[in-house]
Amino acid sequence: MQRYRARMATTTRSARETFRVPQGGVDLSAIDPGATPIGPQGKGKAAKAMTELGARLDARQEALYAAAVGGTSPRAVLLVLQGMDTSGKGGVISHVAGLVNPQGLHIASFKRPTPEELAHDFLWRIRKQVPHAGMIGVFDRSHYEDVLVVRVDGLVGEPEWRSRYERINAFEAEFDEQGVAIVKCMLHISPQTQAERLAARLDDPQKHWKYNPGDLDARAKWTDYQAAYADALAHCDTHAAPWYVVPSDRKWYRNWAVAALLAETLDAIDPQYPPADFDVEAEKARVRAAV
Ligand code: AMP
Ligand code: MG
Repeated sequence: MQRYRARMATTTRSARETFRVPQGGVDLSAIDPGATPIGPQGKGKAAKAMTELGARLDARQEALYAAAVGGTSPRAVLLVLQGMDTSGKGGVISHVAGLVNPQGLHIASFKRPTPEELAHDFLWRIRKQVPHAGMIGVFDRSHYEDVLVVRVDGLVGEPEWRSRYERINAFEAEFDEQGVAIVKCMLHISPQTQAERLAARLDDPQKHWKYNPGDLDARAKWTDYQAAYADALAHCDTHAAPWYVVPSDRKWYRNWAVAALLAETLDAIDPQYPPADFDVEAEKARVRAAV
């Protein structure tokens, strides 16, 4: 909480500066999941800001795609979404990814690995889903599950999961070399918010499909999960692949914050439309002659 409060006065801070995990140790209990440190301070203002961000994201995504097709700048973006059940990974996909042209999106969800996936290295199934140039990829869960649920449930021994932090860093450094900008977001909710959202899922028959009795098992291990998240964020926050902690108790703020992080990442790439590889004036003359 202190971290956000200290920054309240400087409302011009970027989302990337504001939400980046603190350097030198991550204490998630010190970050308020209900905080709104920058940006819109209410639902109405957030809706307006989202309209503007949507236009910016859509335009940037189109240029990213054009630059890749034109061969001028083969870049891509990968948004990694992690968070406890009900933290809003699906909500971010519909409200943020939904702002851009679906043709430019590549969405991958990672569930419990299949026997085939388990027979390979943990990064095998992830590599296949890295977005191609011109695309915005979204991971609904990711290779981080292999240091989260896998650690908490003891699915592999400690030496194995510990060794994965370095392997993840090496893997993500590879994408950076390939021109894939990674934006990793932990959707940070309080246990109270999760309880309310799970109860809401049970109260509404149209939400029963989202409820999984196993979610309560993960909830019972809340402290272990927070410790596993803190370590993953601390070990795998790199210049090339930064981690952001997104306060997610308020859905409208969470969506705005992720959209802002994505927009700033695309602004930094600044994708440019490629020049025509044909004689524009000659083609205009041909079109005129054809009518
Ligand atoms: P959901 O995202 O709610 O559809 O749930 C997907 C489930 O798959 C969660 O319970 C995750 O913990 C689980 N899961 C995802 N990746 C892994 C993994 N690498 N190992 C074990 N469980 C996983
Ligand atoms: Mg679930």
